[in-house]
Amino acid sequence: MSEWFDELAQFLRIPSISADPAHAADVVRAGEWVRDLIRGAGGSAEVVDWHGQPLVVGEVRASSNAESAPTVLCYGHFDVQPPDPLELWSSPAFEPEIRGDRLYGRGVADDKGQLYLLLAGARALARAGRLPVNVRFACDGEEETGGHSIVEFLEADDRGADAAIIFDSGMIGEDVPAFNIATRGLLYFHVEVSTGSTDLHSGLYGGAAMNAAHALVRTLQALLASDGRLAEPLREGIVPPTARELEDWRQLPAGAGELAGQGATPADPAAAEEFYLRTTAEPALDINGIATGSPHLEKTVLPVRAVANVSVRLAPGQDPETIAAAFERLIRAALPDGAQLDLQRWSSARPGIVPPDARAILLGQDAFERVLGVRPVLVRSGGTLPIVAALADRGIPTIISGFSLPDAQIHAPDENLPARYVPLGIETAQALFEELGKL
Ligand SMILES: [Zn+2]
Repeated sequence: MSEWFDELAQFLRIPSISADPAHAADVVRAGEWVRDLIRGAGGSAEVVDWHGQPLVVGEVRASSNAESAPTVLCYGHFDVQPPDPLELWSSPAFEPEIRGDRLYGRGVADDKGQLYLLLAGARALARAGRLPVNVRFACDGEEETGGHSIVEFLEADDRGADAAIIFDSGMIGEDVPAFNIATRGLLYFHVEVSTGSTDLHSGLYGGAAMNAAHALVRTLQALLASDGRLAEPLREGIVPPTARELEDWRQLPAGAGELAGQGATPADPAAAEEFYLRTTAEPALDINGIATGSPHLEKTVLPVRAVANVSVRLAPGQDPETIAAAFERLIRAALPDGAQLDLQRWSSARPGIVPPDARAILLGQDAFERVLGVRPVLVRSGGTLPIVAALADRGIPTIISGFSLPDAQIHAPDENLPARYVPLGIETAQALFEELGKL
């Protein structure tokens, strides 16, 4: 078996399941494994206790003139998702195995296997005396449980960096690499409408007393998108895609297929055509759930209380505070006179965006092209990744990419990564550090 397999397999065998308190020591052990690899590359590294969470912070210095060399910050996480249902794995989740052309095991794609590419790439250049940048690693063990310790750490770390690399995503198809240059933010609201003190008999009061279900439905109706666009106050601040981004999006699979593949119904006639615009560059409001009255049993009740959860995915460029204020104004204006509204904001996260023409992005694309022969396409993610926003706020352009494929089964049984992408990924990581040496 190859050298990389033996080494990576040690890392993958550690069941660093952050969601399971019984594995807390394994999460630390995985962190120590990362620390030791950085030290073995000639760097310095520590497992830092950040308010009870283990972070690995380390640095492999440039081979020469480290004082004036650019610094590249690499982020990855060494925790993994729980492996269950175990019976659906073709080989044990924590016993990595190569079958056919794929490497299988929990964490091969998300994210230990991909973090390993950056670690091994930096080590190879350092050992050869050819590392042109200072590579700083900041890794956490709570990504899979939504932890924010690494974001807090980076916000408090005033050393800055010239660029950052995150290999925690993947290609849009085999040998079609992508850079993700934006993520959406999130606002999450709990909405409660009340119209009286006690539920009523619909025969005695129906038609005369205000029904909270009606009041909630009318209120939410005013917030919904029409033809895929929210009300203008909820669209404030959007950074639209550039011509180059739109050009790259043509290489993405058709939106109609993305919807049909999930058995989804297009929201309106233009939705499939505008799939990527709507899911990555526009804000999207979703009612996540409604509860009121008697939706299952036949009960002639007139409910006086109705609740809903509503989320807003914020487009790159939008400010959560501005949009939350607009949301509250719109919802209060739509509330029928006499109804009471209790609005709670349960969470908020900023969107992130990297300028597509940032020098680090162009150099990064050059590096991928050099190794893979294909220039990465620039895409945006519809999801939310607070670390991207934190890095963007500090003016650090971030290359968010990776080698996992759409069928990598992340978070699911038989998580996999093409085995040839490990040596190729290490080579690409080296090319990235070399190119970023020009910053
Ligand atoms: Zn994950």
